[in-house]
Amino acid sequence: MPPRSVAVVGGGLAGLTAAYRLASRGARVTLLEPSRIGGWAQTQTYPVSFDRDGRHYKGEVTLEAGPRSIRPRGGPGAPAMLQLIHDLGLDDRIVPIPNDHPAAKNRYLYDPDRGTLSAVHASPLALFNPRTAPAVRQLMLAFAMEPFRRSRPPKGDESVASFFTRRFGADVARTASAFVHGIYAADPAHLSLRSAFGILHAAEKKAGSVVLGMLRGPRPKAEVDAETAAWAAIGPLGKAREGWSMYALRGGMGQLISGLEARARDAGVEFRKARVLRLSPDSRVNVETSYGPLRVDHVVAALPPPRLQRVLSAPLPHLSANPSTTVGVVNVVLPLPPKDVHPNGFGYLIPRGGHNPEGALGVIFDSTALPGTDEGGLEGAVTKLTVMLGGPHWSSYGGVRVPAHDDELVPLALAHLQRAFPHLDGVHPLLTVANLNHACIPTYAPGHGARLRELHEAIGTGPWAGRLSVVGAGYGGVSVNDCVLGADLVAKSLDEGTVTGLERWAEWE
Ligand SMILES: Cc1cc2nc3c(=O)[nH]c(=O)nc-3n(C[C@H](O)[C@H](O)[C@H](O)COP(=O)(O)OP(=O)(O)OC[C@H]3O[C@@H](n4cnc5c(N)ncnc54)[C@H](O)[C@@H]3O)c2cc1C
Repeated sequence: MPPRSVAVVGGGLAGLTAAYRLASRGARVTLLEPSRIGGWAQTQTYPVSFDRDGRHYKGEVTLEAGPRSIRPRGGPGAPAMLQLIHDLGLDDRIVPIPNDHPAAKNRYLYDPDRGTLSAVHASPLALFNPRTAPAVRQLMLAFAMEPFRRSRPPKGDESVASFFTRRFGADVARTASAFVHGIYAADPAHLSLRSAFGILHAAEKKAGSVVLGMLRGPRPKAEVDAETAAWAAIGPLGKAREGWSMYALRGGMGQLISGLEARARDAGVEFRKARVLRLSPDSRVNVETSYGPLRVDHVVAALPPPRLQRVLSAPLPHLSANPSTTVGVVNVVLPLPPKDVHPNGFGYLIPRGGHNPEGALGVIFDSTALPGTDEGGLEGAVTKLTVMLGGPHWSSYGGVRVPAHDDELVPLALAHLQRAFPHLDGVHPLLTVANLNHACIPTYAPGHGARLRELHEAIGTGPWAGRLSVVGAGYGGVSVNDCVLGADLVAKSLDEGTVTGLERWAEWE
């Protein structure tokens, strides 16, 4: 039996998943969320109409201000997410992007000085193709030479920038910053290698070379076997996903959020629009909220760690150790078919440096990246793009003014698009939607894993022992898969005794 009464604090993806799973296992769950259910997962649909070539177009577009694509591999979070989608009855909403789809194969790097896009090739043969861009060629050569490089990893953790410089050289480290921008929107010099890209650390540890370690398979066999079993448990869908490079949901991420909310309500979760102001442990936990007090057996904290720290009456270590990054997200809808705007593919990322006065991190070609997700009848007739701005450009890189408001993002995004696609001169967007997402992605600072071990020990032995678990992007990975996995693990093991949510870090060296 799980604890009889549980307060889940925070109604983002992690909190919703924890609430749904716990209530399904018999707990009496109250979910406390002061604002919109879904947290950073924000899907909106907008009406759009326009005339082109004597024809009238009218329909709707679905836009995401937060997550949109899901990985069907890469760790135990991937099967946890697909299992959740399956359990929610959302199989028919899945839009798979097959491994041979242009969105899977065509990903680009943007050179801010030249204003050019170059494809990032998976095949080593691209090295011999004269059309392969110099930065990509350099990347491939550095990978080929990496096994011969001598450099020892430092004793503790290191930053992603230090790792890439050590193993591949400074030029590749700069190019690699583009990939960090695409996931963490962070400065690689401030991001922990082991927490953000643990597989690269494991590969080097195994073989003395990242490339050789990756070829040999860096993950422990027990972990791989557990994941294989988790995929098998999902059934045919778990098999089908082997052919997918990524997937999304028809109607957007909002479908997952509304599906979770509906099922959680069916399972008995009580939703309260309330901010938690204070959490105080005694034999149970007193929860002071903007809606009134509550007394529960257990709290699952699914809010960002620095916010958790503010409401704890008995302090815990390290909750404010990591900074988080602010990202400007601008959705742009153009009255042109995608083929008239950009190459067919997923989109592009931009490395640090160069001429980038708007502080752009990358652009997602939504129409060709995730085709089939829009239900508004305009696919193929309009082009949807998402411009991501800011992150480290607004903090450590400097040189770019931080916008004060959503509205200031639109001219920045359009100026960037104009430079990247000069042929769009004179094309007016049908719609622009801007969101300045404050502190939306945590930057795991080097040493994050060791701090989680200490936090695990502190929760498990002090006044919070058996009364508090933590879940969400602040701890074990920022992807939607990671958030679902953490919530699942807590819900599954709460009936077994003290669960901090950080058990995976108990043995961290
Ligand atoms: C722009 C963007 C794009 C992304 N794209 C992808 C993607 O394509 N794929 C992917 O896998 N991941 C993506 N991510 C990452 C992923 O979306 C997030 O890491 C994840 O949604 C975080 O979920 P969460 O539940 O941990 O936190 P949140 O969504 O931050 O939820 C926390 C909740 O806690 C609430 N809260 C705060 N204080 C209190 C309080 N005192 N009392 C009660 N509640 C409180 C907040 O209101 C919030 O709703 C993206 C993230 C962003 C920002």
